[in-house]
Amino acid sequence: MLGSIYIGFEHLDQTRASWQRDALFREKVRSAFLMREAIRERSFHLTFATTMDDFFARDEQRGLYNAKAVDFLMARDKLIELHMTPPETHAMEALINKIIESRPAIDSAMNLVVEKGNVEEALAPMRVALDGQSGVIDQINSFIAVVEEESLHEAQAATRAISTTQRNMLVLSGCAVALAALIGIMVLVREIRQTQRLRRHRDELASLSTTDALTDLANRRRFDEFLGTEWLRAMRTEMPLSLILMDIDHFKLYNDEYGHAAGDICLQNVSLGMSKVIGRVTDLLARYGGEEFACILPDTPPGAAHDIAEKLRAKVEALNLKHEKSSAADHVTISIGVATIVPSPDSALPQLFAMADANLYRAKEEGRNRVVAG
Ligand code: GH3
Ligand code: MG
Ligand code: MG
Repeated sequence: MLGSIYIGFEHLDQTRASWQRDALFREKVRSAFLMREAIRERSFHLTFATTMDDFFARDEQRGLYNAKAVDFLMARDKLIELHMTPPETHAMEALINKIIESRPAIDSAMNLVVEKGNVEEALAPMRVALDGQSGVIDQINSFIAVVEEESLHEAQAATRAISTTQRNMLVLSGCAVALAALIGIMVLVREIRQTQRLRRHRDELASLSTTDALTDLANRRRFDEFLGTEWLRAMRTEMPLSLILMDIDHFKLYNDEYGHAAGDICLQNVSLGMSKVIGRVTDLLARYGGEEFACILPDTPPGAAHDIAEKLRAKVEALNLKHEKSSAADHVTISIGVATIVPSPDSALPQLFAMADANLYRAKEEGRNRVVAG
């Protein structure tokens, strides 16, 4: 970016320098033309003076002749003030030498003509003077040719420099555009990655807030949400909704006997075993409390719910986790209460809960390690 700005300024400088060179060239040529014009006029006045009989008119021609010399000198001085290249300086020196060389003959010819008029003896010096003046004009012409040639060289060099900077600007602009595009893509990729990371974090957080840390089952919060939704759906579809409540038998004694850490492992094993029984994706198994679990079975009639409950009980029993202090068996067992309802505007969710809880209580009462439904 900085590079293109720098080259842009360089380009402007070159364009400005090229205008200046052009103006300088015009100024030089204009001064040279003025010089040439002054010399021509001088020749004219010299020639004219010879044709006059009147002394005063001849003298007047001499005055005009001298005035043209002044014009010539002014134009020359103006030219010398301008910046000149070495070949131009060289051509200018040749011109001045030519003037110095021819001036005495020219001036004496004029004096002779003015004093004596159109006499035979003035003719030869006058011819020498006129030759001298055309010599000067030739020299001015070659000076103009040199100026033109120099200007052409400079113009070509300037054109080359300008097209180089134009090309550089083009290349740099291309680079700047490519760089900007690259940065844009990098920013985009970073944004996408950031968004993906945030989404992943959000999903992890969401899953953490609905999962029980110890057992990896759905937690109480997820259970409540799920049950609320299924309750309303069952009410709409008028399908039976079953709830299974499970409680590990004599778990306090288990902890007392084997320690709290072993109790935790036991909870994990029981959870894993039960989750293998619940295969339907529409069902939800959750850790409801400490050693209590619950299972929601949408679209499930009482008979099927009872079967699943029995499978759960049998599965835990089959784990055969030693529990010597239990009155129900010598291994870990669970008691289960099952309830089923077809929700209606007249029924309420706590009703389903109360029924399942009452059945669980009965299962405990009746000796544990059993399912009570209905
Ligand atoms: P019951 O057969 O009548 O259900 O007897 P219980 O001992 O299982 O019932 P109780 O409610 O008296 O005791 C439950 C025990 O479960 C007490 C508590 O220390 C234990 N418990 C609850 N949550 C956890 C847990 O996260 N880890 C462990 N290790 N123990 C837990
Ligand atoms: Mg309990
Ligand atoms: Mg218990």
